[in-house]
Amino acid sequence: MKEKLTLMIPGPTPVPERVLKALSKHPIGHRSREFQDIVKSTTELLKWLHQTKGDVLTITGSGTAAMEAGIINTLSKGDKVICGENGKFGERWVKVAKAYGLEVITVKANWGEPLDPENFKNLLNDHQDIRAVIITHSETSTGVINDLEKISSYVKHHKNAITIADCVTSIGACEVKMDDWGVDVIASGSQKGYMMPPGLSFVAMSEKAWQANIRSDLPKFYLDLISYKKTVDKDSNPFTPGVNLYFALEEALIMMKEEGLESIFMRHQRHMKATQEAMKSIGLNLFAKNGFGSPSITSIMPEGIDAEKIRKTVKEDFDILLAGGQDNLKGKIFRIGHLGFINDRDIITAIASIEATLNKLGKSKYPIGTGVAIATKILNERSN
Ligand SMILES: *Cc1c(COP(=O)(O)O)cnc(C)c1O
Repeated sequence: MKEKLTLMIPGPTPVPERVLKALSKHPIGHRSREFQDIVKSTTELLKWLHQTKGDVLTITGSGTAAMEAGIINTLSKGDKVICGENGKFGERWVKVAKAYGLEVITVKANWGEPLDPENFKNLLNDHQDIRAVIITHSETSTGVINDLEKISSYVKHHKNAITIADCVTSIGACEVKMDDWGVDVIASGSQKGYMMPPGLSFVAMSEKAWQANIRSDLPKFYLDLISYKKTVDKDSNPFTPGVNLYFALEEALIMMKEEGLESIFMRHQRHMKATQEAMKSIGLNLFAKNGFGSPSITSIMPEGIDAEKIRKTVKEDFDILLAGGQDNLKGKIFRIGHLGFINDRDIITAIASIEATLNKLGKSKYPIGTGVAIATKILNERSN
């Protein structure tokens, strides 16, 4: 039943009916008063979501546009930067930085392990000329969460450096306290925690990031954030934005506000825990190092079973789309996305489907229902 396919990949994520309905309205003029009202309200709500008093700018483009914008608006040719690299998206940061002629020092960790904040601390001490520390908060390719709070605390006291973070699968899933933590640039995209289709991306800029912008000489036009800043101050955009995506954005942010940040984070935490413990209970190994699992995605490395086979069977028999492994992890891991518009039923269904799949493949070591039982117990431990 293809029409009933449920997305449990780390983007695009499921979209609520309210958001779909908002999306399906007639477009309106992007210079109209009506549209300005939407820009104004979404900008306020985006600041709330980022826990910042700074600017959050909306770009029509995917998450990578926001990442690229973060770099080219704060740095200059030949600048020395540190990039954290413990997965596919860390690698993307390195590629973007190198494409613009930055001098990149990489801090690596094995895929599945988090970045060690002390490495950043030491490098910052040794190099006063570092201009940016660039990391991925939730590394989607491996399902690992990096300690953005700690790493940015080391950058905060550095003379020249700013923190640039990819929060694409952490914003709207767990705490990202931009101002409190002193994160200077945050990139995110609509098809992840925002419960929206792909097409919009967001760059949040701190005061320190705007200071860095003054000396930034990298080439830019469509992604020149000064033009976004100038127009957002007048509740507008520099170019024709994805007007209908803005309708969806407004509705999705209102839904998030209704649920409340605390509840949203709690929900993701419960889903993460239930998924992790259920997978362990049926003999499937977690790929992320213990204690560093992402709140939005759980990676599983099954032993002696082709991960792609599990994924394909779950899709064909149960109409749930899970993500596979990328690059050298292809066939070795599968990933369960529990980001955005996901409820307890989705989690229980996904776990039950995986159990039924193992059974079908003749690979289950435990009675069917073992994972569901553990998950149910955790899901019932609501803190209210
Ligand atoms: C999805 C994702 C992105 C953005 O990718 P796009 O395809 O450009 O939207 C960036 N970083 C992470 C960690 C992601 O999960």
